[in-house]
Amino acid sequence: MGTPADLDLSGAELHELEAALRDLGSPAFHARQIFQWIHKRGVTDVRLMTDLSRELREALATRFVLTTPDVVKTERSSDGTTKFLLRLSDGKQIEAVCIPEHPVGPTDVRDADRVTFCLSTQVGCAMGCAFCLTGKMGIDRNLTAAEIVGQVRVLGRELGVLDQRFTIVLMGMGEPLHNYDETMKALRILADERGLGMSPRRVTLSTVGVLPALERLATEPLMPNLAISLHSTTEEQRDLLVPINRKYGLKELLDACRRFPLKRRERITFEYVMLKNVNDTPDDARRLVRLLSDIKAKVNLLPLNEAAGIPFERPSDAAVDRFARILAERGLTVSVRKSRGRDIRAACGQLITETPRTATPGRRLALAMDAAGRS
Ligand code: SF4
Repeated sequence: MGTPADLDLSGAELHELEAALRDLGSPAFHARQIFQWIHKRGVTDVRLMTDLSRELREALATRFVLTTPDVVKTERSSDGTTKFLLRLSDGKQIEAVCIPEHPVGPTDVRDADRVTFCLSTQVGCAMGCAFCLTGKMGIDRNLTAAEIVGQVRVLGRELGVLDQRFTIVLMGMGEPLHNYDETMKALRILADERGLGMSPRRVTLSTVGVLPALERLATEPLMPNLAISLHSTTEEQRDLLVPINRKYGLKELLDACRRFPLKRRERITFEYVMLKNVNDTPDDARRLVRLLSDIKAKVNLLPLNEAAGIPFERPSDAAVDRFARILAERGLTVSVRKSRGRDIRAACGQLITETPRTATPGRRLALAMDAAGRS
């Protein structure tokens, strides 16, 4: 926790709020009320916390900040997928997407049985994956826990689903394990029963395999579902597609997956973006089966959504079917993700917005989702 003056109420765990209230000379039980206002009810202004005294509200407003990303633009797909362009307090922009489990039409996301929020954890990304435009941007900065949690508050409030059951995937801009502390703090805040009470089992963290952080994740008391962005079956090819493989190779990554603590029935999801004539052959499929043979795994195939600036093509449906069949016939659970929100470019690899990134005229922000996450 920083000094009281720089405490962002949105990114404070309950014990931090209690300490802040003690510093103000107020009873600690008010911390629970504040926590509920922010996370359960989506309030973004302490002056609206009407069960607190006027004096306390003024003191909170004077001493602390409560940051919430501003909505710059919203785009709604014909299937109900909604893409948000959000501006952070320093003017940087990120995107977050709400994906209904089943297409619901463009008008009412509340009709969906269940929705998934796809959140960003960084502005840009340092991982440089060859099929991802975010990777080409490089890393700008990490998001704070307040900014990660704030995306949930904004999406839930804007769509009127904060009181509904939803799931979260950390598959937006950035590599969550490259922003470990703030990401895990955000998950603790979301999991707290005094707020949203989101079970970690309703959260999926997708990583390309930052091994030291993955080993650390394996020791966490609150552990989200794990998805590994694998995308290749050989060291040589993965070195090119997912450059962090040069540091933490495929073999070490899969060894870490074997050690990763899983409860009964839990499995690791392996995301595999399919690139025409690159990694979509029957030999690739058979290698994938061998690599995962002793891991509790399921495979999610993601036929590439082509986008300008990405030097790969989408495989034919026949190639995708053939690949999936080889996995399924050898006993792997496999799914082929249907693209959602393609008409608003919210699908996998298609999130390319053209919005000023900084005050510099003409500088454009090209955002693209982790290929593991958006379709
Ligand atoms: S695919 Fe994910 S990890 Fe790779 S560069 Fe894109 S955002 Fe980063």
